[in-house]
Amino acid sequence: MDRDPLESPIQYVKGVGPQRAKLLARLGIKTTGDAFYYLPYRYEDRRNIRKIGNLVYSTLESVMGKIVSADVIRLPRSHHSIFELVVSDGTGLLKGKWFNQPYMQKNFSAGQKVILSGVVKRPYRGIGFEMDKPEYEFTDDDADLIHTARIVPVYRTTTGMSVRVLRSIMFTVLSSLIDQINDPFPSELLVKHALPSLRESIYNCHFPGPEADIEKLNRGVSDYQRRLSFDELFNLGLGIAIMKKSATKQKGIPFRPTGDLVKRLIAKLSFSLTTAQERVFQEILDDMRKPHPMNRLLQGDVGCGKTVVALMAMLSAVECGYQAALMAPTEILAEQHYLGIHGLVEDLGLKICLLTGGRKERPLGEITSGLIDIVVGTHALIQEGITFRKLGFVVIDEQHRFGVLQRASLRKKARNPDVLVMTATPIPRTLAMTLYGELDYSVIDELPPLRSPIITKLFHSSHKQLIYQALSGEVAKGRQVYVVYPLIEESATQDLKSAIVGKTALEKMFPDFSIKIIHGKMKTAEREAVMASFKGKEVNVLVSTTVIEVGVDVPNATMMLIVHAERFGLSQLHQLRGRVGRGSDQSYCFLLAYPPYSEEAKRRLETMVRTSDGFRVAEEDLNIRGPGDFLGTRQSGMPDLRIANIVRDSFLAETARREAFSMIDRDPYLEGSPGMKQAVERFWHGKVEIFKTG
Ligand code: ADP
Ligand code: MG
Repeated sequence: MDRDPLESPIQYVKGVGPQRAKLLARLGIKTTGDAFYYLPYRYEDRRNIRKIGNLVYSTLESVMGKIVSADVIRLPRSHHSIFELVVSDGTGLLKGKWFNQPYMQKNFSAGQKVILSGVVKRPYRGIGFEMDKPEYEFTDDDADLIHTARIVPVYRTTTGMSVRVLRSIMFTVLSSLIDQINDPFPSELLVKHALPSLRESIYNCHFPGPEADIEKLNRGVSDYQRRLSFDELFNLGLGIAIMKKSATKQKGIPFRPTGDLVKRLIAKLSFSLTTAQERVFQEILDDMRKPHPMNRLLQGDVGCGKTVVALMAMLSAVECGYQAALMAPTEILAEQHYLGIHGLVEDLGLKICLLTGGRKERPLGEITSGLIDIVVGTHALIQEGITFRKLGFVVIDEQHRFGVLQRASLRKKARNPDVLVMTATPIPRTLAMTLYGELDYSVIDELPPLRSPIITKLFHSSHKQLIYQALSGEVAKGRQVYVVYPLIEESATQDLKSAIVGKTALEKMFPDFSIKIIHGKMKTAEREAVMASFKGKEVNVLVSTTVIEVGVDVPNATMMLIVHAERFGLSQLHQLRGRVGRGSDQSYCFLLAYPPYSEEAKRRLETMVRTSDGFRVAEEDLNIRGPGDFLGTRQSGMPDLRIANIVRDSFLAETARREAFSMIDRDPYLEGSPGMKQAVERFWHGKVEIFKTG
């Protein structure tokens, strides 16, 4: 294959050089290809050249005229100066002012024709106007206008490089090298989806033509931008399709459970399964029976009962003579899972153990010998390379913190066990399909019956008293209460202090209550003891940092107070709220906020009060935070989407995915489209060895 023209270093482009190349590298632009795909984040309309006599204050205007004077004015008794450029077009005078840039003077001389673009600020001598730091461009020669008199691209830049310089570099790169771009896309696809060619699209995304729709451009949905978004999503889809295809070729375990253990488990449960739980369990069983490894994502709102479904799946594997592992992102969560299921498991005559870094007891030998059927632990379980005799089924709780790459390494270590990934951060289905598309997808979309909805209320610090009354009333009824303080990593000690201070204050207020504290810095044994006494109803109020965020299950706890709720993220608040409302009694979630707080914080708190539906909360979170941050693509190991926006472009994403899958179906190794293959490899650059697996 020829050297990829998109890979040539930006440094050698005319007007760049080593110094500017360094600055560009900070923006992620190392090659000409990077430059092509470094799109403006907004566009300014400087198309209309106006007569100076018709200018309007406070608007962005462009003017063409001749230079009357170009002077540097020294300010008295200081080192400061102002460069002043005066231009005339016969209808008035326009003065541009630049503070402390005397060197600009040498660029201009009287009589030159120039275009100035800027915001009209003040009157000038009664016959004109002033602008501060207008954008300027000479029009004497017939060179292309790139900074004025058109729709002008505005790029994010870095200290030491002005937008103007960056725009000029972009223009040089585009006008000299655009011919080197080859469009790897099958032309039928372009026609079918009415997408413009790649060259045209890249060029127009940077320097739109005079007829372009600036409003669409600024929303990122012009045809040219859509084409580039489609490319990204298509490349993403191809990589996912390739991974998925190769997974169906791998040999896995064809489980043949009799269903006996599951039947016995169900008989012991104090509730009957919801339809959604039963359906999802069947989906998992179908996968388990297949001869390839299962990779399934199980989504469901907090409290929908994912754990019992995971347990049923693990029992099915154990029944076939395999071991199963349940991995959680934190020790506390692993402990909670263990506490929740070990009784049931042992009643069935099976052996289960908890394995975390903090525990002394480490029955490694019994795991290796196969004596232990189910191991519950943290991710370290796999990373430390503990050897199992016959690990056949792995449940990973909270997929957000466990990326594609880690899953891939897990599969290698444990010889293709079936993997079930559980998450309580629901994302809309199309999103999940795009971003976690190499996983199959199940959703429990139903909460167990008999749960009355949680009442969520927002209080400001001035109304604290009301909360404390409600709290003592709840305890008087024999119920238990969580009081949660925020934990922000940078100042963990400080935050811990505020939880401790809070606990002391509560103890003063309620001397008769048993109040305990739990936090991440406690020893494992201490923490286990506190949790056990809370479960055993010996503790009325449990004060904690966010360690209880995920997984804790105490049905008698009916009230949660979240202190400094304005400091929590939306998904986090929702997760926390899920700790109450687990029994049939009315539960409450009180958000205690300390004004003043940001507009965003206000939106988060209002969303919490308005809805308890996890999918709606997630959607709103997505709107507030934007997809990149929300989904943490970095963590998930997926390539970053730089142009496409998965929310805005969700329809495009579905189309791209469908087309990508059908292309891989026809041509699994893209042998017929070497250009496309190169594009996918560049997009995924080494993140997943997509072509090496086959
Ligand atoms: P999550 O999906 O948040 O992990 P859990 O698995 O922790 O939820 O379940 C929440 C609570 O609901 C647990 O106490 C569990 O025993 C209970 N539960 C699970 N399924 C049902 C059901 N079908 N009916 C009633 N309660 C259930
Ligand atoms: Mg859970």
